[in-house]
Amino acid sequence: MSSDLVIVYHRQPYEEVEVDGKIELRENSSPNGIVPTLKSFFGRVSKASWVAWKYAEDPANPEFERVIEIDDSYGKYNVSRLPLTPEQVTSFYHVSSKEAFWPILHGFKERYNYDPVDWPMFRQVNWAFAEAAAAEASDDAVVWVHDYNLWLVPAYLRQLKPSVKIAFFHHTPFPNPDLFNVLPWREEIVRSLLEADAVGFHIPRYSNNFKAVARSLTSSRTIDEAPTIEEMSPRGMALSERNTIKALRHHEHDIIVDTSPVGVDTDYIESCMAEPEVQAKVEEIRADLGEQQLIVSVSRTDYTKGNVQQLEAFERLLAKRPDLHGKVRLMHVSVGANRNMTAYEEIQQRIEELTGRINGTYGSFEWQPVALISTAIPFKELLAYYRAADVAWITPLADGLNLVASEFCMTRADLGGVLVLSEFAGVAVLLDGAVPVNPFSHASMDSGIEQALAMDAEEMRGRMERLRARVRAFDINGWVGSQTALFDRLRRVDHAAD
Ligand code: UDP
Repeated sequence: MSSDLVIVYHRQPYEEVEVDGKIELRENSSPNGIVPTLKSFFGRVSKASWVAWKYAEDPANPEFERVIEIDDSYGKYNVSRLPLTPEQVTSFYHVSSKEAFWPILHGFKERYNYDPVDWPMFRQVNWAFAEAAAAEASDDAVVWVHDYNLWLVPAYLRQLKPSVKIAFFHHTPFPNPDLFNVLPWREEIVRSLLEADAVGFHIPRYSNNFKAVARSLTSSRTIDEAPTIEEMSPRGMALSERNTIKALRHHEHDIIVDTSPVGVDTDYIESCMAEPEVQAKVEEIRADLGEQQLIVSVSRTDYTKGNVQQLEAFERLLAKRPDLHGKVRLMHVSVGANRNMTAYEEIQQRIEELTGRINGTYGSFEWQPVALISTAIPFKELLAYYRAADVAWITPLADGLNLVASEFCMTRADLGGVLVLSEFAGVAVLLDGAVPVNPFSHASMDSGIEQALAMDAEEMRGRMERLRARVRAFDINGWVGSQTALFDRLRRVDHAAD
């Protein structure tokens, strides 16, 4: 197949569900909004492919279908499935990606586990991804590689198919050199990224960190400086900074360092909010709450998401404010996505312990302060909870972007509800109007939630108006448009050289 666009993302673009002993492919229902967004790019090119991995006990089994053709609401596209054994998945995904890279990317040096990493295996898996992408791509295709699990793909692809345009998008934070360079494979990783034609990040701070890391490890230099950005300002990103073209030059090869935050589908959320079932659910939740205030918190179970710090803050709130007993409830949704990994099981256990302690200490027959939900809530139902809530409490210690914060704002056409948002969520640089909190500070966490619970309707309206304007300005159409413009620019470079 010769596809004009090849998306390389480690997850498959659908879920495999067993029905009557047969495997059926269904649209993804897991809490991961990026898959449908990426699939929406398929409507823009005549031929497209997606490369992902799939479990295979025996990769050599001739029955394993490597490439399948899908025809769904996004059009026709190929899915090239890379057969990985359970051992390969454990090594490449759980050990290297989740136990070594993930903690460093999010600033958790103490959780970083270097010894078990099988680097040759990581290379091998990335090489296999690059081979599969090269097999799908036309000579002048754009190959769009996603996230840190596939760091080495650009370099391998450049060897295998030099003519393609390579774009890489990084979904997690990208740390500064002091942290990133802890990784012993840092130079190989960065040299690979510098083989891409464009490397994209959500916010200016990550782009700047990447440039600093590249300059610290290679002879690359900046050839086009963007205007100075208030790097540490929590709400500093102007719309004009999206797609700011900043380039690095490395061995006569120019790399665009692109900044463009993924947004939410504001039209879709608003259309869901108009559905009678969603509205009925909102009414039902509110009726059930009576006069009680509802705080919602939604995340995956991960030490980066600050679940424990948030529950501890809620416990302090109840200890300090007996007047709130019986008057406020916390719905803490913490979805376990990485089962069977010790670090995540430990966090889950801490969350359950804290919830039990809070409910045991303060709860009564009529009032349960914390409702802990550990399985994913369907998206539309979640939207109803956002709309019914008084406060959305989103307190990650580190987070590449965070979509939940923006989704919450888009359900609030009533201009009600307060967003309390960690400064360390990437989206904090966009969301002017939130109550910013520092989850590493008890004082900041405590005053943030008290301020939100006591906020008067007028201030709430003013803040929500600003928030909604920002979410719209950085919505999914803006991101899709910016990435499409980037691909066009990459294709034009070729034609300019003809
Ligand atoms: N989500 C959901 N049901 C849940 C929990 C989360 O549908 O029970 C969705 C949520 O609406 C959001 C996504 O999962 O679209 C999580 O994205 P986010 O960027 O906030 O966090 P990530 O998990 O990607 O780090």
